[in-house]
Amino acid sequence: MNDDKTAAFDKTTKTVTVTANDKLQYGGSKGIYLWLNNLDISSYNIARVKYKVIGDYGFHFTLDYDDNTLDWNYDKSTYCPSYLNEMIIPLKSNQRRLKGINAAGTWNVPYEQFVIESVTFEKVDNPKLTDVYASNEPPVIDKATSGKFDDKISAWDYVKNLGVGFQYQSFATCEDSLDYGMDCFHFWGFKKPSKEIIHFIKEKGFKTIRLQTSPNGGHLLDENYTIDPRYIKALKEVVDWIIEEDMYVIICGSVPEFMELNETFQKKVKESVHFEALSVSEDYKKTTEALLKAIWKQYATAFNNSYDERLIFETINNPTHIFHEHAWDPISDCAVCKKDYAIMNEYNQIIVDTIRSTGGNNAKRFIMVEGIGGKWKSITNSLFKMPTDKTKDRLIPTAQKLPMGFTLATAPGGFGSIFYTEGVRKEINAMFDALDKTYFKKHVPVYLSEVCGGPLGIPVMERINCMKDFMSEVAKDGRSCAITLHPADDYQNNSHDFDPWNIKWNEKSEYFDTVFYGAQGKEYPLSEEFLKNNETKVESIVGKNLINEPFDTKKWGENYRINSDIFLRSVPENYKLEFVIKKTGSSPTIQITWEDENFQWHKIPGTAKKIKGGRLLDGNVIPSKTTFTVEIDSETAKIIENSNALFLMGQDAIIQSMTVVE
Ligand SMILES: [Zn+2]
Repeated sequence: MNDDKTAAFDKTTKTVTVTANDKLQYGGSKGIYLWLNNLDISSYNIARVKYKVIGDYGFHFTLDYDDNTLDWNYDKSTYCPSYLNEMIIPLKSNQRRLKGINAAGTWNVPYEQFVIESVTFEKVDNPKLTDVYASNEPPVIDKATSGKFDDKISAWDYVKNLGVGFQYQSFATCEDSLDYGMDCFHFWGFKKPSKEIIHFIKEKGFKTIRLQTSPNGGHLLDENYTIDPRYIKALKEVVDWIIEEDMYVIICGSVPEFMELNETFQKKVKESVHFEALSVSEDYKKTTEALLKAIWKQYATAFNNSYDERLIFETINNPTHIFHEHAWDPISDCAVCKKDYAIMNEYNQIIVDTIRSTGGNNAKRFIMVEGIGGKWKSITNSLFKMPTDKTKDRLIPTAQKLPMGFTLATAPGGFGSIFYTEGVRKEINAMFDALDKTYFKKHVPVYLSEVCGGPLGIPVMERINCMKDFMSEVAKDGRSCAITLHPADDYQNNSHDFDPWNIKWNEKSEYFDTVFYGAQGKEYPLSEEFLKNNETKVESIVGKNLINEPFDTKKWGENYRINSDIFLRSVPENYKLEFVIKKTGSSPTIQITWEDENFQWHKIPGTAKKIKGGRLLDGNVIPSKTTFTVEIDSETAKIIENSNALFLMGQDAIIQSMTVVE
């Protein structure tokens, strides 16, 4: 049964059709449930599921034991992959009764069909879960003994040829909740890769495709870090399609960023050979080095002489010391960060040496080299060292820059800008100034491997204006720079700029064209009509209370954050902030601060001229009444607009409201 008609079961063909996930919702796993009325299973030890999948992905099969302490996903469900026809699932020995069984589509797949031939309960001698990783696939080895390669081209000229890249993230996904084997592409909403998809990307105007990979996110087979040959084979197939389209292709080492962010992954690393951590830290150095060596030995053996200079290797994606407080923004005067810089340099050196050791075209292949967190500051910092390389002029420093962020600032936990502000522009300039100094002025090119004008939920003209300015910097004389465009995701509707299921773009053409033209140093002419229809409309916030619910300052123990985007183009040049408070102690104090781009806080009334209903002490407001106003002059208004956010703190008071008044 299925109450909300998101899945159907055809009794004659035994086919389950799941149609619910048209919005690719996370956890949008819909299916059919068969009641078994607390079936006694105590004399069996396995469930045997015979099935056939029609399409790309398998399904979640759930044994719904009569035990509420069990987790539906982790304890009761098993993934039945598309490339098998039978799964043997041992029954939990301490369970006697089954409420029912459930068969549901897998995450983020909008439509899928599978046939369940039979489900039988049996007693067997050796109850063992079917291994979804087992295969007879031999290692993937590039056997060509020679191949062409443009030896003459300099790194400087090479990067200029790369055009605009597209970040195709199929191979980057990692899921640790269940064993998904080779059905690994759907977690971020991807259909299995196809020639048609690659051609479609090429047709749009992209010249390079960047493939992030995650071999250690569920594709290792043993403790020697042997990568599932099927994974490398699938990667190779896509690389070959890209080369056939006469495009450049970047194979990026591994995506470590989410590897240590959640506890289930940490658990998997401990318990399963299929997963391994990757961290820029003393604690993980030994395992990470062995892992990086193993990954690159296998990649470089699978991709060598058959590939000319159009195949590029990139050492790693966003490597961090995730358990350290400066994980994403390492600082020079921290002993741990200093050490991490040295470790990162060693990692890059190991990768370059491993690639070069495979000889052939890999002895001269271009290699992009990343720093900690993929941040530009970590490749312009003097603690960062480019690896030494026997081959001259073949290493390209690489960073990532998402000037508008990539999650909606209005979403829970989101950050980034809603509007393209002077502050964002300043950050872009700061990056290019630093890259000029460290690289371009020394005739060293820089590749920006992830750039995005922000998520789809923010006004398109903001994203277009941002990318127009960004690309004019990329294409400026005296620089050799190119970018890969990171997907603009719509985090509210969980969809991407590229819809692989229907092979269409959800993004406006004008956005892409702005980037393509910009890469050639030109400005894409937007039509009058487009400009008129897409003008960013901002509602006035005068009279609006900016506090969602009364905020208790709890003796400096808490702070209340107000994203500064809300003040952009929505307030008059000068205005007042009117506070209504409730006293909870004898010395009520309110502090209003703004945060700069380096996350430093500055008090506001210090620059504001007037306070009514209170007085100033050490830059804080000491209210004499329960309603007070702080005047914000035009200069302070500009500061607030371009800050990261406003923060409210204090003591002995609950802030009931903060309203913008004229
Ligand atoms: Zn540090």
